[in-house]
Amino acid sequence: MNIRSIISNDNYSREEILYCLNSQGDDELALLEAGGRIRKQFVSNKVYLRGLIEYSNICAKNCFYCGIRRENKTVGRYCLSDENVLDAARFAMAKNYGSIVIQSGELSSPDFVKRIEQLIREIKRMSDGNLGITLSLGEQTEETYQKWYDAGAHRYLLRIEASNPTLYKKLHPDDPLHSYETRVNVLQTIKKVGYQTGTGVMIGLPFQTMEDLADDLCFMRDIDIDMCGMGPYVEHKETPLFQYRDQLMSQNDRLSLTLKMIATLRIMMKNINIASTTALQAINKEGRAQGILAGANILMPNITPGKFRDSYLLYENKPSTNEEAEDSTSSLEAIILHAGAEIGYGVWGDSLHYKSKL
Ligand code: SAH
Ligand code: SF4
Repeated sequence: MNIRSIISNDNYSREEILYCLNSQGDDELALLEAGGRIRKQFVSNKVYLRGLIEYSNICAKNCFYCGIRRENKTVGRYCLSDENVLDAARFAMAKNYGSIVIQSGELSSPDFVKRIEQLIREIKRMSDGNLGITLSLGEQTEETYQKWYDAGAHRYLLRIEASNPTLYKKLHPDDPLHSYETRVNVLQTIKKVGYQTGTGVMIGLPFQTMEDLADDLCFMRDIDIDMCGMGPYVEHKETPLFQYRDQLMSQNDRLSLTLKMIATLRIMMKNINIASTTALQAINKEGRAQGILAGANILMPNITPGKFRDSYLLYENKPSTNEEAEDSTSSLEAIILHAGAEIGYGVWGDSLHYKSKL
């Protein structure tokens, strides 16, 4: 087996995927190069931007890895005002980003559902329908997903986090609020409502094996996702998983494994959208450029008002926590140019995979 013969196939066995993830040296370089080349060939050399608005760090859940989990009492909680959100959306319009992402801790009160619906409608009205809207607001009912879709959101991100149910259970409390089965069902509901559907995993988690990661990629292929956002797991000291920090691979190894995951997924699912995530930048300042070089085609500049950024710490060393949006924008341009790609300004940059199924 070698990388060149694997990538000349159309269908990849679990063994071949594992081979890609375990590749080193020249084989690894050939894999990353192929990821970048296939991106250019199948989705163009444009990288699309989604301005990320971190709406609230108030969360009903208690995921063992996450810094804003409900039981972390050291976090000062916030929720953006409507004006904060609309200002951020105006900023994205002024910068010609094309799209925004609204992300938040998981809440499902009627008030929350209504406010999000109204914000989506207002952003659509204000931008004459031009700003694309992705949501990343956790598990909701079908009715809620439908409401937000009808209001104008058209893409949804919900990471499976770990597709192996046994591993998933080690990362979450054992209660109905954190059920693996629900998470899988909810992903299907999101698809059924009509969203371009994205999922993803964390890479380098305690207890996670290479086989788990190969199976994660097979899971994404089997449920036929349109988009993917995956990044390295980064420990946070106020979380239960922090006690396993000595068992983790080095941050450098997490970086290279994430790049191999991106390249392998790009080769397996040629025309989906793949994000080069902020967590990649948290472990290496060149991380996001390397993600693009390995096959990613989406970047999510943080446009949350500066004073709230330090409170949305999912993990430690999260970048740009005290930078204003403007600084992040210029550094993003540098990242994209550095990766030899262009910015796809002013367009949605929808998943070609989704469109090919219509
Ligand atoms: N509450 C929503 C969206 C916000 S969390 C949800 O959970 O879907 C967004 C993502 O942050 C999660 O899907 C998770 O994969 C990631 N995340 C949380 N803690 C992390 C950590 N310690 N390291 C890396 N990524 C993390
Ligand atoms: Fe809440 Fe999402 Fe963090 Fe889980 S990962 S605790 S749902 S914000």
